[in-house]
Amino acid sequence: MIPITKPFVGNEEAEAAAAVVRSGWLTQGPQVAAFETEFAAFVGAPHACAVSNCTTALHLALLAVGVGPGHEVITVSHSFIATANAIHMCGAEPVFADIEAEGFNIDVASVERLIGPRTVAILCVHQIGMPCDLAGLGVLAAKHGLKLVEDAACASGAEVMVDDNWAKIGSPHSDAACFSFHPRKVITTGEGGMVTTRDPAIDARCRLLRQHGMSLSDLLRHASNRILTETYDVPGFNYRMTDMQAAVGREQLKRLPAIVAERRAIAARYTQRLAEVAGVIAPQEPAWARSNWQSYCIGLPPDADRDSVMQAMLDGGVATRRAVMASHKEAPWAQARRDALPRTEAVRDSHLLLPLFNGMTEAEQTTVIDAFEEALSEAQPFSRAMGA
Ligand SMILES: *Cc1c(COP(=O)(O)O)cnc(C)c1O
Repeated sequence: MIPITKPFVGNEEAEAAAAVVRSGWLTQGPQVAAFETEFAAFVGAPHACAVSNCTTALHLALLAVGVGPGHEVITVSHSFIATANAIHMCGAEPVFADIEAEGFNIDVASVERLIGPRTVAILCVHQIGMPCDLAGLGVLAAKHGLKLVEDAACASGAEVMVDDNWAKIGSPHSDAACFSFHPRKVITTGEGGMVTTRDPAIDARCRLLRQHGMSLSDLLRHASNRILTETYDVPGFNYRMTDMQAAVGREQLKRLPAIVAERRAIAARYTQRLAEVAGVIAPQEPAWARSNWQSYCIGLPPDADRDSVMQAMLDGGVATRRAVMASHKEAPWAQARRDALPRTEAVRDSHLLLPLFNGMTEAEQTTVIDAFEEALSEAQPFSRAMGA
């Protein structure tokens, strides 16, 4: 059976976690501080604040830029539902823009159509690791006085061209960027998240709110030779990352450049092989973007039934997944204000994700392509038989 994904972890991660267990300091402490410093340096951001997952990272980042009750935040329906839920967690409402005609990212023109008197922010997504049009969104946000937050859950190690240089997602292109370290993403800490920003006030707000609104960190109190008494000035949350997770994250971060390089090679092989399969739409990188290929999403020929193709591939030993969901098709967000979403709905129903993981062999990729071609010919017997 070829799985859709596998986390790429080894002895280094296991040893790092074990060392933390033996150290006696288990939650947010020196390992979290070191992971934050190293992650900030890797992406090129002045500040990074580690939290329990990306949903909590989004919640804190949105609160820190001022999102609250009565506000609207424009985002995509075409995303994992946590994107919309994080807006709701602030007491605000998600408003859904469509995605572009090509690719899986937010359509700037659709965002502009939705801006209203209650709009305070745009929450864009770098879907499945492909950078969205940050330049276009930045211009729009500035023109309308809106905050811009990035859902970079899938985008660790992805890059965009800025002033003729490649810059990592997370180096400040917006008010804040939020990452996930769930095992489904390219690097993992089991559960984990990070907020990067250039703004020290946003960073300070996230740090305060992730730890119960407490004025001093445990690390500071522990290191002090004077007694220090904390205060609690705002209602906060417990969104801490543990030191065991951070220690694993530090090892994962060392591997990230090699992980992304290998994923690019696997994606390039898929693209090359799929060019020979009639009617299949392979993903394209814009000239100004480099994906980390968190997922490889393809469009099927119009006459192929997506679910039949997925079932036939599963029967042939190859796991696939449907493409990114449409949040407005789920009960909590069925009534949300939105633009027309034809592209969001079409992709949800006609695209699928192929297996892509570090350590995937060429033979495994060939098995996937063979199973796919076989499934496709079963799913559209008529046009195949006609030689179409
Ligand atoms: C995975 C994902 C999230 C949620 O991340 P968690 O760390 O599981 O909370 C949010 N947004 C997008 C786009 C995601 O893919």
